[in-house]
Amino acid sequence: MTVVTGGAGAWASFTYEPLPTRVVFGAGTLARVPEEVDRLGLGAVLVVSSPGHVGTARDLARTLGRRSAGVFDGARVHVPAPVADAAVQAADAAGADGCVAVGGGSAIGLGKAVALRRGLPLVAVPTTYAGSEMTPVWGITEDGLKRTGRDVRVLPRSVVYDVDLTLSMPADLTVTSLFNALAHAAESLYAPDVTPVVALLAQAAVRTVADALPSVLADGGDVAARGDLLRAAWWCGTALGATTMSLHHKLCHTLGGTLDLPHAPTHTVLLPHTLAHNLPAAPQAAHALAEALGSDDPARALWDLAGRCGAPRSLADLGVARSDLPRLAELASTSPYANPRPVTREGVLRLLEDAWAGRAPAAGEVAG
Ligand code: NAD
Repeated sequence: MTVVTGGAGAWASFTYEPLPTRVVFGAGTLARVPEEVDRLGLGAVLVVSSPGHVGTARDLARTLGRRSAGVFDGARVHVPAPVADAAVQAADAAGADGCVAVGGGSAIGLGKAVALRRGLPLVAVPTTYAGSEMTPVWGITEDGLKRTGRDVRVLPRSVVYDVDLTLSMPADLTVTSLFNALAHAAESLYAPDVTPVVALLAQAAVRTVADALPSVLADGGDVAARGDLLRAAWWCGTALGATTMSLHHKLCHTLGGTLDLPHAPTHTVLLPHTLAHNLPAAPQAAHALAEALGSDDPARALWDLAGRCGAPRSLADLGVARSDLPRLAELASTSPYANPRPVTREGVLRLLEDAWAGRAPAAGEVAG
């Protein structure tokens, strides 16, 4: 870890404010959710989930016993406003004084919407590697437009990571969800507000994913390797919650919101290209990623990894029309935001053309 710990004079000045989330981690920890609910002094929590996790949500409600105010299983990707309204109504009708979200980023996003609207404390039980549980960022989609914001009220008070809940992830979801996590780590490394703690977490997370993924692909039920991946996802989520994201997240947000693309596959296709674009202007991040991935060209290494895993590598395969690209490049380059390299319409369009066609990313060698 020589790079992120820096040499003499590195990290001479920074501000770091850890977010106050309690983390319970292990296998079989779902059984400890009632304990977390009691710790928060809650007596009637609404359990929210996606339709695919209604079985787990009902089991959890049973385990919660008298502390359960019912189950709402209507979570949808990107938290459509009518779904948020229905969940808030369910919480009101049940007299809920808290919320437990079990599932991927969609279920946790819905829990955050309820927390935002009613100020209810949230407990999150993530089942993917998306990382939303570690951030104070909420999102609600209305009339095809996703609004997002930061509000500490939506930050889960307690996160229960149960490795057992991740064993059911099929290989494709495992890989794309990990790319979503890797994107948080990678962009945190060149964020304007990166700190030594975040850089250490991000680099360790990338290395852990690279080490553990082959075992999980060989055996999706390998609890030890799944535990490594979930721990890495926690670190990636922490990095996301602690820093300002750049071009990659802006593009995924723009494409996801405008064209209703699947979240994790979009991250998977774009990450090698956004890194190839940015890393030459972010040498410290490039070195950290190169060291973690064991490659002089981290962008290419990630593109190769996606290929080896059979993950999507082209926007065309996700249903994007080539004629959409100029509009997307325009949208992603109009309002200014932090990025190591100046964001121009031409630069973004070139990157999107490569990603659309499924070409290897432009050379992203580590500078210097
Ligand atoms: P998701 O929650 O939509 O889940 C994708 C699919 O996988 C669903 O069908 C779900 O039922 C299924 N699934 C989830 N866990 C599973 C498991 N263990 N086994 C088998 N199937 C499982 O997808 P996601 O990628 O986790 O989350 C995407 C959403 O999260 C997006 O809306 C994104 O914007 C949001 N997000 C928000 C933040 C934030 O900080 N606010 C961070 C990351 C993602």
